[in-house]
Amino acid sequence: MSEEHARLSPSAGERWLACAVAPAREASFPDTTNAASEEGTAAHKLSELCLTNGLDAHFAPSKDDWVRWDNAVFRDHVQTYLDLVRSKLTDTSTLFVEQRLQILPEFDIFGTADAVIVDGHTLRVIDLKFGQGVLVDADDNAQLSLYGWGAYNSLDWLASEDIAYIEVTICQPRRNNTVSKTFSADELKGWIKENEPKARKAFRALATDAATPGAHCKWCRAKGVCKERAEYNLATAAFDFDMVPDPDCKPTDPTQISEEQLVAIFKRLPMFEKWLKDVEGEVARRAHEHPVAGLKWVAGKNMRYITNPAEAASMLEVAGINPYAERKMLGFGDLEKAAKALGQKLNDLIGKYIDKRTSNPVLVSDEDPRPAYNAAAEDFKEELSNSD
Ligand code: SF4
Repeated sequence: MSEEHARLSPSAGERWLACAVAPAREASFPDTTNAASEEGTAAHKLSELCLTNGLDAHFAPSKDDWVRWDNAVFRDHVQTYLDLVRSKLTDTSTLFVEQRLQILPEFDIFGTADAVIVDGHTLRVIDLKFGQGVLVDADDNAQLSLYGWGAYNSLDWLASEDIAYIEVTICQPRRNNTVSKTFSADELKGWIKENEPKARKAFRALATDAATPGAHCKWCRAKGVCKERAEYNLATAAFDFDMVPDPDCKPTDPTQISEEQLVAIFKRLPMFEKWLKDVEGEVARRAHEHPVAGLKWVAGKNMRYITNPAEAASMLEVAGINPYAERKMLGFGDLEKAAKALGQKLNDLIGKYIDKRTSNPVLVSDEDPRPAYNAAAEDFKEELSNSD
């Protein structure tokens, strides 16, 4: 979905619903593009051409819009999206490609849907997400509700009263992830009614209004300099030990903090580490742009390097020295890509040599949704598989 000029973008919905001031604060930071976002734009352009001309990705011509990214794997991923859209078409449905959505125009919230299918009483919105960094989930996803509402709300060209259900699907081919959520029209109306005041607040908020820090700060462009976020994290660092007393008032070593206090600090580490990295990134960005008082650049470490590796290697070989490190296999992702480029599947080629082993258990907060690791059960599973 394209959201170029929307101040309150649907993809940032989770953020501005939680922190109304975020869009105003972000406005003073450039909305930079990177290689991943440019590749995503290229994938959208190829998809649009294919859907509007009835082409498969591999048979589409090469164009400047995607030539930089064009390869078999890129086209495979686009084809996954095309197949998904086409699987939802019926004899009676109508497909709209790159359809403008008026989500909440009074608050400058709009977007362009990659594909909208109108089929009887059902409206389907399909969004291609070409990134692979974060796996998109359908639960508690404000973006899906905003897309769904946008499609329903933009039906001037149809009788919206005929639509009873709105299905929103996110297709994330590079993560092999397709998630859908179906809303009834009444559900969406209720969601919008509940959240409209928050959208209004975000639309009217000034950068000087108070911000609300939390997990939603992750993608905020102001995250490295936001005062409230800094205060929140510094308050976390200034841990109040009295908040976590030792249970049962057991006598403890007065020179040490208790185990409960250690755990309370441990649970705060991920958020704190993330904030420190954001501050580090922001300071480095500024120091690249202009001299920053109190900081200076110093020379990096001196490291030797070989100016002509091929020539040097052959001289070392003549001298009886093997100059090469042990050959190392590519990772699974690269091997799969290489096999795919040859029209093959990695499993068909070397499936009999592929097995799984679990890395060491990871210590996390008990609020983490993953089930707790059970060492005895895992040992039992291993014994069973060995006895096969
Ligand atoms: S960093 Fe967090 S608290 Fe600060 S403006 Fe952004 S979303 Fe709001």
